[in-house]
Amino acid sequence: MKNIILLIMDGLGDRPNVELGNKTALQAADRPNLNRLASNGTTGLMSPVSFGIRAGSDTSHLSILGYDPLKYYTGRGPFEALGLGIELKPGDVAFRANYATVKGGKVIDRRAGRVHGTDVLSADLETEIDGIRFIVKSGVEHRAAVVMRGYNLSDKITETDPHTVNSPPEYTRALEPEAEFTATVINKFLDRSRKILQDHEFNRKLNSDGKLPANEIMLRGAGKIPAIPPFQEKYSMRAACISGTPLIRGIAGLAGFTNLKVEGMNGRVDTNYKNIISAAVKALDTYDFILVNIKGTDIAGHDRKPELKKSVIEQVDSVIAPFLERLDDTLIVVTGDHSTPCSYGDHTGDPVPVMFATNGIINDDVRYFDELSVSSGYYKITSNDIMPIIMSYSDRAVKYGA
Ligand code: ZN
Ligand code: ZN
Repeated sequence: MKNIILLIMDGLGDRPNVELGNKTALQAADRPNLNRLASNGTTGLMSPVSFGIRAGSDTSHLSILGYDPLKYYTGRGPFEALGLGIELKPGDVAFRANYATVKGGKVIDRRAGRVHGTDVLSADLETEIDGIRFIVKSGVEHRAAVVMRGYNLSDKITETDPHTVNSPPEYTRALEPEAEFTATVINKFLDRSRKILQDHEFNRKLNSDGKLPANEIMLRGAGKIPAIPPFQEKYSMRAACISGTPLIRGIAGLAGFTNLKVEGMNGRVDTNYKNIISAAVKALDTYDFILVNIKGTDIAGHDRKPELKKSVIEQVDSVIAPFLERLDDTLIVVTGDHSTPCSYGDHTGDPVPVMFATNGIINDDVRYFDELSVSSGYYKITSNDIMPIIMSYSDRAVKYGA
């Protein structure tokens, strides 16, 4: 049996960039070690979730790790909360939230002028009502997450975001009798929040600066965290995750992974790549399966910066030489969780390169690791196929039949 390092370069897939002579960031990058790994393995293209789906990092990671998102993806609220670093517990109900501006009883801006620095508001909205704790955390600009923690909560309730301007902000309603208690508590929370936000010093300052106040918090995307069968039981492997991104750490945590700390790892483009890879190799002593997520490629894609994306790939390449020395006892898998082309600035449904590198398996003829070269490789798969292939190449798969 072999141990596994699964390196996911987030949003790795790209499209041609004029700035890079019509090459993808991978094609343009100097990547000798990725190419050596590809030469020592079998490659192909992987479609996240399914062909042509514009997967999010959450749905794609679930799928790659063998958890069908159709079954385990319970809405954006819980995953948004995980992404903000809130540790969810079974039974919690989580929402995505927006700070908005209400004037004369109507919503006039659903994003409160893309307000920022709302942490002080979120801190003051945290409370406990009828035995239910409300955890509120600000995200980027007007975004936030709200988590309800306590007994007898239901996510079968309506949103309070009217989704249009010039409509009054809404109260929530129960969609089934069992949700009445939850709806009542949320509406008390909304009343309390409106009072606090109306008189808040932060908003008085915005008003006096001629800016829109963030005097309403609107809730949507209610969901409960999914009960995920532990990875360790599903695959009989001790698993660890190395990621500086709260969303990925949150998903790994749900699946029972140990989230490792790494000095200098920050989930940004200036993270400490060397320490991350060293930590992954070291973790092979203790764990059977190590998931590494590097976020910089996705960030550069969203920011439409091909040079930066190329540079992130080159920085990763420059530190992964130790992988090449472990091919006797380790299966190295490299892929992305979706494409984030710099020319598009967001996730697309394009397939991403994938490689399975280890000694003793059949190699295909692919010698370069990029979108086009691997298209003549062995595999055309979806993310649902990754774990079964990993289990087979690591000699861990259970026989199907006699
Ligand atoms: Zn992603
Ligand atoms: Zn992204």
